[in-house]
Amino acid sequence: MYGAILVLSGPSGAGKSTIINAASDQIGAYYFSISTTTRAARSGEQEGRDYFYVSTEQFEEDIEAGNFLEYAQVHGNYYGTSLKPVYEALRAGKLVIFDIDVQGHRLVREKLDDITTSAFITPPTLSELGERLHLRSTDSNEVIRKRLENAKKEIRAVGEYDFVIVNGDVSRAAEAFTIIAKAARLKQSRNAEKAFVQQWLEN
Ligand code: 5GP
Repeated sequence: MYGAILVLSGPSGAGKSTIINAASDQIGAYYFSISTTTRAARSGEQEGRDYFYVSTEQFEEDIEAGNFLEYAQVHGNYYGTSLKPVYEALRAGKLVIFDIDVQGHRLVREKLDDITTSAFITPPTLSELGERLHLRSTDSNEVIRKRLENAKKEIRAVGEYDFVIVNGDVSRAAEAFTIIAKAARLKQSRNAEKAFVQQWLEN
């Protein structure tokens, strides 16, 4: 495997996809990992572009079959990353970008730490996050309340990440993201490192 992983976490409403889109022509070929979820599609979301939407039964069958690199329950729904497309993209030497929660980041670190870089993306304050979620008006007040509660817990894990991007201004956040993505791509796997040392010594 010669690709690398960039994990992005942060509350929904932090602007992760806006930042990725704003930087996408600056960071070279990458594969954005599309997660599978049991939550309902929001208006404007598309099957296979935003998520693969499945039933709880289907998700649990996939867990049993060992199809996930990692999965977690977030806001009462399952979310998971399928193993196969990620390994294919890594084998093709791509930078694989994940938008996963704090629990998912920990699991990816356990399995693929040597090729992983991570960034936590957040709006400047909790109240600004609340405003953005209300403005987006894709979720009910009850769902927004759950998301804010979850964000209060997740922000405490910020120290587990290599970088923090405070998204007050999208173009500045995209600039920081571009630098991080370029550095993430340069991260060598332990195998590649061993091969490099061997080759360095022999020549
Ligand atoms: P949303 O419902 O707003 O799309 O996502 C809710 C949360 O689930 C976000 O924090 C997002 O990063 C996280 N999430 C999305 N996909 C995955 C996944 O495959 N694994 C894990 N662990 N978290 C995910």
